[in-house]
Amino acid sequence: MKNFDARVVKTAAFGQWDAIIQRLAPEIPAAAFKKLGKHVACPIHSGGTKGDGFKLFKKDFAETGGGMCNTCGTFHDGFKLLMWLKGWDFPTTVEEVAGELGLKNSNDQREQRAINRDREAEIAAIRAQRLADEKAEDERIRGNLKRIWNESVPLTDPIAEPARLYLASRKIRIWDRPGLERAVRFHPSLNCYNEDQEFEGSFPTIVLLVCSEGRPATIHRHYLTPKGEKAPVENSKKMCEVPSDRQVTGGAVFTSMAAEVADVCEGLETALSIEMAMGIPVWPLVNATLLELFEPPKGVKAVRIWADKDVTETGIRAANALKARLWEKGIKCMVMIPSISIPEGAKGVDWADVWMTMGLFGFPQRPKAERVAS
Ligand SMILES: [Zn+2]
Repeated sequence: MKNFDARVVKTAAFGQWDAIIQRLAPEIPAAAFKKLGKHVACPIHSGGTKGDGFKLFKKDFAETGGGMCNTCGTFHDGFKLLMWLKGWDFPTTVEEVAGELGLKNSNDQREQRAINRDREAEIAAIRAQRLADEKAEDERIRGNLKRIWNESVPLTDPIAEPARLYLASRKIRIWDRPGLERAVRFHPSLNCYNEDQEFEGSFPTIVLLVCSEGRPATIHRHYLTPKGEKAPVENSKKMCEVPSDRQVTGGAVFTSMAAEVADVCEGLETALSIEMAMGIPVWPLVNATLLELFEPPKGVKAVRIWADKDVTETGIRAANALKARLWEKGIKCMVMIPSISIPEGAKGVDWADVWMTMGLFGFPQRPKAERVAS
């Protein structure tokens, strides 16, 4: 049954998230459940081996099912956490959680609604308290995001030289394209902490505005050196925290206004390289997980996915999953796979590598209409 009432399921899951998430997401290391709040390897970005940026909320995991990764973002409840981990849409997630609670049909749902009513006062009291905590926490996160964005400047600003040097090293020269400054900016000095929350230094940083459901959700950061190299830190690309009423899943870095055709890829460098070659704006979706979960804005009728070609095939698998989901929604979709092969010993190639090694010759010919527009 796909149309469970999410509120009924959410209330039923209150206090049960530990068992639900353990069963539905065995990819989360057991240590995270044994000691809530303990940092473990992120099941999404670390491949289960390196890093320990992921944790389940210490204070209220059983009640909310929330957790966070220092690199991938914050997921304030079990639904959001599962959508991100499993690549499920919201109805599927609600259905899976309902299944774990033994709710199979509308009869079960009716009975559960009655049970929920009996627990309502108890749960409401705990929730009210948590809500107050969450509000304070959200204010801190929002304040931080606002401060970073307000302190940032367009890439054309004289102080943004490290960003321009970095992009130039990737043969990207469109840092002054009008409109880019709405989504891609530069911060002269942002603090960087590793996954153990140890201070690694302050660095010049490219900041990207990640929007979801038509609203800003958070900021993605690329830490650099003053000379425009990747900063010498554990992980030079990181997501900021996300307020509890926003989500990164489904979102994108909108480097241009939405049109009928949308071009998307994973990284910023890839997006700007494709724009250099094809003369069309491309939206970075940050990583393979978020690419798979992308929700095009209203009015988009076709999506071209410029996939990464990884040895692990993560990029192509994510692109194909997005393509299948978009076709189901009636949105036309095609996947563009880099035209070069993966060099020995490399993790993969993307369209930024195509641009670096082959320039225009590595790309398909520009469609006529777009050639005129660019
Ligand atoms: Zn992560």
